[in-house]
Amino acid sequence: MFDKILIANRGEIALRVIRAAREMGIKSVAVHSTADADAMHVRMADESVCIGPPSSINSYLSIPAIISACEITGAQAIHPGYGFLSENANFVQIVEDHGLAFIGPTAQHIRTMGDKITAKDTMKELGVPCVPGSDGGVPDLETAQKIGADIGYPVIIKATAGGGGKGMKVANTAADMEMAFRTARAEGKSNFGNDEVYIEKYLTTPRHIEIQVFGDGKGKAVHLGERDCSLQRRHQKVFEEAPGPSISPEERAKIGKICADAVANINYIGAGTIEFLYENGEFYFIEMNTRLQVEHPVTEAIFGVDLVREQIRVAEGLPMSFAQDDLTINGHAIEVRINAEKLPNFAPCPGRITQYHAPGGLGVRMDSALYDGYSIPPYYDSLIGKLIVHGRDRNEAIARLSRALGELIVDGVDTTVPLFHALLAEADVQSGNYNIHWLERWLDDNLAS
Ligand code: ADP
Repeated sequence: MFDKILIANRGEIALRVIRAAREMGIKSVAVHSTADADAMHVRMADESVCIGPPSSINSYLSIPAIISACEITGAQAIHPGYGFLSENANFVQIVEDHGLAFIGPTAQHIRTMGDKITAKDTMKELGVPCVPGSDGGVPDLETAQKIGADIGYPVIIKATAGGGGKGMKVANTAADMEMAFRTARAEGKSNFGNDEVYIEKYLTTPRHIEIQVFGDGKGKAVHLGERDCSLQRRHQKVFEEAPGPSISPEERAKIGKICADAVANINYIGAGTIEFLYENGEFYFIEMNTRLQVEHPVTEAIFGVDLVREQIRVAEGLPMSFAQDDLTINGHAIEVRINAEKLPNFAPCPGRITQYHAPGGLGVRMDSALYDGYSIPPYYDSLIGKLIVHGRDRNEAIARLSRALGELIVDGVDTTVPLFHALLAEADVQSGNYNIHWLERWLDDNLAS
């Protein structure tokens, strides 16, 4: 059993892990850059270690600094949160080589799923339905054009190493192929050091549906239903809900079992998310994330489980505390991502918080590292909070979200809160009638400056 764990992250997710550890009687160590000396995660942890200057590359991404912080404090395990080193197989290997435990999957699983072509091949073999497209990498433009003609336009060209919406380009017609192919390759090369690309059919009206899975590393795995994360801006999620308004219990059980069986088959350990596009009743795998997702709280709300606690348990070698039959859905949950950004262009808006008041009451959870007088540094992600609401059904969750957003006060910086007030007034959002392109179109129509 762990006595002390180190959290290699900052912001709300660091607090999330500290809270789970404290409830389990485990001490926590925060690491921070000099820019985060006054951050909430530093204040809330039992101990803290400064690991470098503001730039992430020299602090939150510095593997030697993080390993040294474990050695200095005697932490036995590392929770990576999301982002930063959470999907870095090399980091996991180094952690293990130092006799420390990584609270997450194995280096091998991270490597397999981190390369999108390998991930797709692996999932196909495991019986998971995939988007039609090229068989693996596409070496040159000529081949790309042939594949485009075979599967039919529009197609999307994706960098195998891509992530965060980077390295993806759509070709609507054969005439767009050359430009899209070259750009996707160039983005893959410059952002991820790998210019290999593959091609998929571009689905025009899908929803983004992702299945939460959890494995014990010993061949047992469960699924915790789906989240609908279709409301996206530039391929980044802004509003997530569970269960998905378009998914029937039968569909959930079917795709959930396919996913749970797939990860059980590879002895997957910990939390994972298998992402799909969903159109006309069919699921198409796009990628697997081998970590805790930003939007995990909506799943926690409807299943009444603590996914971080569970991650720590399986990393300690304990069995999962629930089996598939124990997992039943209770009500509906929605999360909105509150970013320090100025509308209409979503420009990052760091600065000092002059007043902060978190909403409360029945069914409201605010995961945030803000406090009165806190200065949001300009160096990191603009996510400053997640507001999660839970109701007996979707209508109650919507009403609760509207009420809770009304109570929230974040003064001193611009935030995305006005966006959510406006979205909740839309009939399509109220009825759950949207796909992955809905928000971009709505932004063009309503917020274009
Ligand atoms: P990343 O790793 O950058 O997040 P993903 O493969 O998960 O990339 O895709 C992110 C988003 O891009 C999806 O949620 C969807 O909105 C869009 N997308 C990806 N593949 C397709 C496709 N074949 N057709 C249509 N949209 C797609």
